[in-house]
Amino acid sequence: MVIADYELVNIEVEIRNAGEIVCDVILVVGSSHCLPVANASSIGPLTEDADVCIIGAGMTGISATYHLAKAMEKLGLEGLSLEVKAVVLEAREFCSGATGRNGGHLTPYSFFNYREYEKKYGTIEALKSLQIENRTAMAMVSIIQEHQLADVVDLVAGGHLMLISSEEEYASLKEDYLAASRAGLNVGDVEWLPEEDVDRIYGASYSAVRFPAFNFWPLKFVTQLYLLANSSTPHFTLSLHTHTPVTSVTPLSSSRIWSVNTPRGSVKCSHVLHATNGYASHLLPQFGGPSGIIPTRGQIVVMRAATPVNDSWKASWGGLDHYWFPRPVNGSISDHGPEDEKENPVVILGGGRHIGGPAFEQYETDDSVVNTALGEELRAFLPETFPHMFNKGEDAEMEWTGIMGYTSMADPFVGPVVEHLQSGATSGIFAGQYIAAGYSGHGMPRAFSCAEAIANMITAAIQNKSWSTPEWLPKRYLTKNRSQEKN
Ligand SMILES: Cc1cc2nc3c(=O)[nH]c(=O)nc-3n(C[C@H](O)[C@H](O)[C@H](O)COP(=O)(O)OP(=O)(O)OC[C@H]3O[C@@H](n4cnc5c(N)ncnc54)[C@H](O)[C@@H]3O)c2cc1C
Repeated sequence: MVIADYELVNIEVEIRNAGEIVCDVILVVGSSHCLPVANASSIGPLTEDADVCIIGAGMTGISATYHLAKAMEKLGLEGLSLEVKAVVLEAREFCSGATGRNGGHLTPYSFFNYREYEKKYGTIEALKSLQIENRTAMAMVSIIQEHQLADVVDLVAGGHLMLISSEEEYASLKEDYLAASRAGLNVGDVEWLPEEDVDRIYGASYSAVRFPAFNFWPLKFVTQLYLLANSSTPHFTLSLHTHTPVTSVTPLSSSRIWSVNTPRGSVKCSHVLHATNGYASHLLPQFGGPSGIIPTRGQIVVMRAATPVNDSWKASWGGLDHYWFPRPVNGSISDHGPEDEKENPVVILGGGRHIGGPAFEQYETDDSVVNTALGEELRAFLPETFPHMFNKGEDAEMEWTGIMGYTSMADPFVGPVVEHLQSGATSGIFAGQYIAAGYSGHGMPRAFSCAEAIANMITAAIQNKSWSTPEWLPKRYLTKNRSQEKN
């Protein structure tokens, strides 16, 4: 497996130990190993006690951490000085799961699948299903803008261009668009492009639909989110232990009700978040099998274009069972190419899972290998789709895999851990444990908000208050409502 190298970038870091600033340095990041928190606290003593223990340092775990910090900051400003200690336990390097390996598309699916959502779940839930994606993307972009991080996280606000494979697909998308519009969804920024325009402007013989979306470098964003959480308020103390796999979570008969066990020792805590994505069933066996969270392997190749691309091409792209985008040429891994190719961007391309055998790469948990047949299909895709921009037979510059978490309804499980997934029933034996996982390959426009919901549940529990479902969260995501599931 080859993982992308990182550009040189200065990051100001406050190095803290149990919340206390030890030193303030500027790091020059040159490889994954130099990222400020990549291997944080992987040796030495383990934090023994915390209010909240977060298992998994991907988008979900770190967004929950960030929102807990923000909640404590807000309570502090309101004069309610609650002190909360949180610990993040990560099995491998910081953010080395799906978030650190994904395609980088932050694509709210505008009006897609609207009729199916409405038929299955009703108009209000259908609208929420799409609105949460826009809400999530805009919340993330507003953090990026507030802290002037656009260049640090390689944010590109170029929209998403979806190539359309047939007249039937075009007609179906149009019907979703019209139905969503009639139901009151804001689809004003959607643009339909006929095949001749797509061919002339972009070099592909397909019609397309373009809608607002972003691409970015998720590992860099999550790193920044962690640094923000760690410096937001003295009322929130944060520790991170990487290379610390959790092997079990067992009950305690003391004021701390859970023991989170690792080969390095145990952490006693009151609240536990399983932010473990495709690996959730390892600690929670009831989430195994087809009605739970199915680990599913995705594969990415990095292909270099044979020509520079025009500005309008600098978008995120999808359709034809693939997704791809050109990395920004300046200040990116493109700088590492030979001198005469520096203006030709590299394109990050994923998809093509239909090649991965009858199981579509499901129940695969090994992200240290690539699927050769799938890799060949990916290498052939861009030259076939954009024959004037990519050379046939070119090899990939990089290639890697990552593990996603799929669910039967393609929606995540969010909320208190339950014993019975089909009914949402629980006897309370998991009280204090939460999960947000199973975004089914579409986590960037959902995980950040789902983790916010969990952070708010935990904040309410810490204050002995009740939590009510926010307007923006589709009700069927909640673990207790899974009985409404319709396939
Ligand atoms: C190849 C690929 C391409 C993708 N492309 C896109 C895309 O372009 N757009 C999009 O929206 N989504 C995409 N996704 C999906 C997206 O990456 C995920 O939905 C999202 O990252 C999930 O975030 P997470 O934090 O829940 O999970 P993860 O990022 O997987 O984090 C879970 C973490 O938990 C850790 N962990 C697991 N078990 C334990 C344990 N027992 N103890 C301690 N730590 C543990 C793991 O090591 C991991 O770091 C893609 C995924 C893959 C694999």
